[in-house]
Amino acid sequence: MPRVDFRNTAIAFERKSKKQLKETARLFKIMNSSFLVNLGSNLTLFALKINMPINGIIKRTIFKQFCGGATFNECRETIKELADYQVETILDYGAEGKESNAAFDITVEESIKSVRFAAEHDTVNVVSCKITGLVSNGLLEKVSAQKQLNQKETDDYNRMLARLDTICKEAHQLKVALFIDAEESWMQDAIDQATDLMMERYNKNYVTVYNTYQMYRHDRLDFLKKSFELAKEKKYILGAKLVRGAYMEKERQRAKDMSYPSPIQPDKKSCDNDYNAAVKFCVDNYEKISSCVASHNEFSTLYQLQLMDEMNIPKKHKHFNFCQLYGMSDNLTFNLAKAGYNVAKYVPYGPVRDVIPYLIRRAKENSAVDTEVSRELRLIRKELKRRKK
Ligand SMILES: Cc1cc2nc3c(=O)[nH]c(=O)nc-3n(C[C@H](O)[C@H](O)[C@H](O)COP(=O)(O)OP(=O)(O)OC[C@H]3O[C@@H](n4cnc5c(N)ncnc54)[C@H](O)[C@@H]3O)c2cc1C
Repeated sequence: MPRVDFRNTAIAFERKSKKQLKETARLFKIMNSSFLVNLGSNLTLFALKINMPINGIIKRTIFKQFCGGATFNECRETIKELADYQVETILDYGAEGKESNAAFDITVEESIKSVRFAAEHDTVNVVSCKITGLVSNGLLEKVSAQKQLNQKETDDYNRMLARLDTICKEAHQLKVALFIDAEESWMQDAIDQATDLMMERYNKNYVTVYNTYQMYRHDRLDFLKKSFELAKEKKYILGAKLVRGAYMEKERQRAKDMSYPSPIQPDKKSCDNDYNAAVKFCVDNYEKISSCVASHNEFSTLYQLQLMDEMNIPKKHKHFNFCQLYGMSDNLTFNLAKAGYNVAKYVPYGPVRDVIPYLIRRAKENSAVDTEVSRELRLIRKELKRRKK
């Protein structure tokens, strides 16, 4: 077995002072309560609606924990801090749910700026990209449902492809990779089609574009295999970012409300089985698949290490990557980095107001069921206890 000890909180939190750890513990303690998280989320959304000045308090607390900064300049410090520990940065422009052509053009500009910024920084080699920032959700849904588009919708769809192509082309030229995020299932087919097209264009000699495969869906392991067949047929390298998925409750609720079978796995175990099978599939085909284990799950991460070890794959092989979200699972990130693997943090940035939906998702993900203490809080407490000795 590879020797990476994810229980080593001394390495995980080396860069944090005791004061910082205590502050983080306080934040996670609040987030540990699903009651407070729901209350806080609703109050935040309400305060934003009535233009209450809440940016300051958000920025000093949850934003500081999960985001790199409001601007590139603010992110520089975060990037340097991570780079000091051999951790790379994946820039993620956090704005979501925009619905106008002007806003979509801003996303393109912002993505191009991110790509150029990445090209100038040694430890920023990937930028994440949300197709939902390039076109309306309604249109993605209509394309995914294979409904007939009218002329305006066809034009809008083609504009989305052109926007995406502009970003991919720039990234390809500057040798920066792009992770295309996965979204709700009712929009995902359109995203997959557009991403396949970009992979065909820009993944011939080296990998620029990665699609995201959500293993909480029961059809995604099959889809990953089909994507690989397509890549082989069209002679490109598949870029595969493996995740479990962020919208489980919403997916289940919609399926229930609209009386169709849920696309989500029946239970966590099935989700984990498919995730780990996907990890294995990517390792087995690593010459033609470049993958990223984008997860906070310790077992899946160890499993990837074990498979790499068994196949004598060098730790720094460019087709093997790990990634965690900024502000979470430092025990995985910093221990992997110390052991010499390719590991990055997903670092969202953007104006406070724009990243609020992302922050609410992070808070909900960290709120534990009943009295269970969240993974993050447990680790911080362990480290504080260790430093007391
Ligand atoms: C770098 C990075 C990028 C990401 N990008 C995306 C993205 O583009 N799109 C996206 O949707 N998600 C994305 N995610 C995933 C998401 O945001 C959560 O972080 C992830 O779902 C948590 O899973 P985990 O692998 O860390 O492991 P764990 O904490 O072990 O798993 C928790 C996850 O398992 C699944 N799950 C839990 N209970 C059940 C159940 N009863 N039945 C079925 N499944 C269950 C859910 O997906 C849940 O979130 C990303 C994650 C990372 C780390």
